[in-house]
Amino acid sequence: MLCRFGDNCPLMMDCPFAHSKTELLVHPAKFKTRCCDSFKCFDDNCCFLCGSYPNPSNCPYGTRCRFAHRRQELGNLLFRPSEENVQEITDEFLILKYKTKWCPHLYQHNWTYCVYAHNYQDYRRNPQVGYGPVPCPFWDPRDTAKSSYNDRCKFGAQCPFSHGSKERAYHPLNFKVSTCQDIGPGEDRAECTREPFCAFYHNDLDKRPIVPHVM
Ligand SMILES: [Zn+2]
Ligand SMILES: [Zn+2]
Ligand SMILES: [Zn+2]
Ligand SMILES: [Zn+2]
Ligand SMILES: [Zn+2]
Ligand SMILES: [Zn+2]
Repeated sequence: MLCRFGDNCPLMMDCPFAHSKTELLVHPAKFKTRCCDSFKCFDDNCCFLCGSYPNPSNCPYGTRCRFAHRRQELGNLLFRPSEENVQEITDEFLILKYKTKWCPHLYQHNWTYCVYAHNYQDYRRNPQVGYGPVPCPFWDPRDTAKSSYNDRCKFGAQCPFSHGSKERAYHPLNFKVSTCQDIGPGEDRAECTREPFCAFYHNDLDKRPIVPHVM
């Protein structure tokens, strides 16, 4: 929900509403306020799946529920079901889409195996906007809900450097060009616990060529 005071808002950082369209897209806490606080929400932009999903008949609020009961209600805020399926994860998905959308789930779950972003370290801007693989020297990695995206880096969403560990590891020029540290060499190598989401290669077939980065 956009704050009606906009840039003149007396509360700014403490305000529960977003102050620009970009802030709505990049601020997880404010993004979530797109869901109104009443139980009468019929907003197509409501951004969480109800805890009753996929069995809406279990929801005590019924049609008055402020959370989405069907995937269609969240439109393109969600990945396609096949893209969420752990069995069908592809390198192309990991490079171009993984962690570029906010998690719609309200229940406790293992973030390692979730394709959605949960905080700023986890969140990735779409790499096709053109940021480079080099870590941003200005980015503040602490995940305090109070600091806005532009407080973490003065270049904000337009920054030409990588923000957060996921943007760096899954960058098209970094993805699977270095070896996974979770597995040892030789016969009795350990299984990688991050698969199928690991950003590092496990064998020569998995390995991608190093492409020199030009700023
Ligand atoms: Zn405000
Ligand atoms: Zn809502
Ligand atoms: Zn519900
Ligand atoms: Zn999640
Ligand atoms: Zn930056
Ligand atoms: Zn691995």
